[in-house]
Amino acid sequence: MADNEDQRLAYLEAMDIQPWVRRDGAVAAGSAGAGSAQAPGAPYTAAAAGGDIAHLDWETLRATVLACTRCELSKHRTQAVFGVGDREAQWLIIGEAPGADEDRLGEPFVGPAGKLLNNMLLAIGLKREEVYIANIVKCRPPNNREPAPEEALACAPYLARQIALIKPKIILAVGRIAAQTLLKSDRPVGTLRGKRFYYDGSGIPIVVTYHPAYLLRSPQEKRKAWQDLRFAKETFSSL
Ligand code: URA
Ligand code: SF4
Repeated sequence: MADNEDQRLAYLEAMDIQPWVRRDGAVAAGSAGAGSAQAPGAPYTAAAAGGDIAHLDWETLRATVLACTRCELSKHRTQAVFGVGDREAQWLIIGEAPGADEDRLGEPFVGPAGKLLNNMLLAIGLKREEVYIANIVKCRPPNNREPAPEEALACAPYLARQIALIKPKIILAVGRIAAQTLLKSDRPVGTLRGKRFYYDGSGIPIVVTYHPAYLLRSPQEKRKAWQDLRFAKETFSSL
């Protein structure tokens, strides 16, 4: 992965982070905490509820999602938003739910939050096309409300199948809904970031950071997000 320092600093600036990083690439202050390794838990076993979904190939899975009526969100959508990117990606980015732009265009993270996500990824040397991007729920909740737990549960087998097909090396959960759903936790993001969890008792690490839409509302948190991204990159490099 080309780690062009000047380019990386430019992306940091695009993230609106004062790039006070040392030339050796270390964060100058407040590096993402010790990242205590957590024992693999048993979160997010909803795949078991998915029946046949666990055996679908990519194209059938996609078609099934696009036609899905497993939850109420199907009534409000323009189209389901399946996911995008490299189906053999090493990095899987998981967000919450499609918003208005995603519902209209059929692709995750294409609005303002998506632009920031792209820059966050570029800051650690990842192009959007080389990761895979998906959401906890595939259909837009009306008025951008949070997906209800039963909607997340209904949709879970699709994401579980995507994960099984992609076999990512690492999962980056962006935002509270993704983090809490994947980790089966009700803890705030602030206490989940900076740690290594594991997906569904597998060996796939999950690292948590703030949602880019939240960062757009709370730019003072971008520095912490940058620490999280570095922690994710370090975690990946240590695999
Ligand atoms: N926010 C998300 O969580 N996902 C998207 O796809 C877009 C915005
Ligand atoms: Fe189906 Fe998921 Fe859309 Fe609900 S959100 S209708 S479970 S694809």
